[in-house]
Amino acid sequence: MIEFLLEDQCIGCDICAEICPQDVFDTRSGGPPVIARQADCHSCRQCNLHCPVAAIHVSLLREPTPGIDRDAIVASGRLTAYADWLGWTKGRAPSGDKGHSLKLKERRGEQEPDPGDRVRRQLFEVSNRTYL
Ligand code: SF4
Ligand code: SF4
Repeated sequence: MIEFLLEDQCIGCDICAEICPQDVFDTRSGGPPVIARQADCHSCRQCNLHCPVAAIHVSLLREPTPGIDRDAIVASGRLTAYADWLGWTKGRAPSGDKGHSLKLKERRGEQEPDPGDRVRRQLFEVSNRTYL
């Protein structure tokens, strides 16, 4: 569920309101959008990803967090964590390099995976037919 929108950082672009599939926001001319239908949020995190100034925090919980500490969450970097993980932010490695998916080089047979990684090793061998 969307937890908060940092109004003092918002530049009023309304991208979050346009992209939200659940119509959670109401726009305000010349000001930040309002989280008008918080309970309708299904935590897709599109608003968080597309906000150009990282002003939106979305948790994966169904209910709002009581007494949420905005400053602590901002300081922890969680507002950009998902974009970082996806490799959307500058200077970050693509998520494939973090081992969440098969690396393209491995799939092409250009680079063998770590011998200790049984699953990746088997997939590599299947793709190269070296196990038959
Ligand atoms: S997380 Fe998804 S559903 Fe929730 S407010 Fe953002 S865009 Fe809308
Ligand atoms: S996307 Fe970010 S900057 Fe744009 S209106 Fe929404 S909260 Fe404000």
